[in-house]
Amino acid sequence: SKALGRNRYSFFEPAIGERLKEEMALFTHLRSAVKQRAFTLHYQPVLPQQPGLAPYAEALLRWPQGGSNASPGVFIPFAENHGLIEAIGDYVLDSACDFVARSRDAGLPQIVSINLSAKQLALGDLPAKLARQLQASGIDPSSVELELTESTLIQDLAAIGSILQELRAAGFRIAIDDFGAGYSSLNYLVELPVDKVKIDQRFIGSLAGNPRNQAVVEAILALARAIGVQTVAEGVETAEQLAFLRAHGCHYVQGYYLARPMPEADYLAFCRQSG
Ligand code: C2E
Ligand code: CA
Ligand code: CA
Ligand code: CA
Repeated sequence: SKALGRNRYSFFEPAIGERLKEEMALFTHLRSAVKQRAFTLHYQPVLPQQPGLAPYAEALLRWPQGGSNASPGVFIPFAENHGLIEAIGDYVLDSACDFVARSRDAGLPQIVSINLSAKQLALGDLPAKLARQLQASGIDPSSVELELTESTLIQDLAAIGSILQELRAAGFRIAIDDFGAGYSSLNYLVELPVDKVKIDQRFIGSLAGNPRNQAVVEAILALARAIGVQTVAEGVETAEQLAFLRAHGCHYVQGYYLARPMPEADYLAFCRQSG
């Protein structure tokens, strides 16, 4: 019985048992979703604020279940910790590249930005894998951007630098995601060959009436400009935020104020409308 179990084992045992059961269930569920490719990608517009730049789309993973979507903010870290991220990452690469090919064939050529997990970069065969994927989809590396969060970069900076160099030489663009949220953001900016930084949405969300955050965002924009790195502000939710970013020369903006992530058909309709 339960009471017996509590007496015989430590006080904490039942709670740990429950959590383990939940994790086992999630693991089984996620593993079968991977096998069945039961995911989809949504696309959120990233819109230029300066002349001569093209709009593009960030691909965001969705795991549909009964009318709602499980949050990638939760199941991606779980997948990373339980050996499922490589297969999920492969799904994302395949689907995003096929999206680029389909949209080109439909006369609406797109550039797509893909989120990469640290584990994918660490596998080392990423450049070869990407090359195979591009060939299979029949698309060009110039239509693919790769987003790496700062947490990805914490490891061996020199090793990561040389992988990024290889990817850039192959024609991919590289963006640092969630910039400013980590411990050595400036170091990454100086040491790593990147094309873009995406300013962490926490800084954008708290711009209003917050002179400190305004100064931080202005400084990031000025520094990036000085070293020839483009800037993206994500999480733009208000007209005031947009006006501030425009006034300070941010290259691209992304956020609910402009457009939410959406299914492929809606995204292409959005492009037709705004093109
Ligand atoms: P992220 O890469 O920083 O993506 C931005 C997140 O902010 C997305 O959440 C997006 O839907 C949300 N967002 C966009 N505009 C706004 C806004 O104006 N306000 C607010 N509050 N949020 C906004 P989402 O789609 O839930 O993704 C969460 C995280 O999961 C992503 O953060 C990324 O780290 C991870 N993720 C998503 N798709 C993938 C993927 O295919 N591969 C990997 N490795 N990670 C992914
Ligand atoms: Ca394919
Ligand atoms: Ca991202
Ligand atoms: Ca981000």
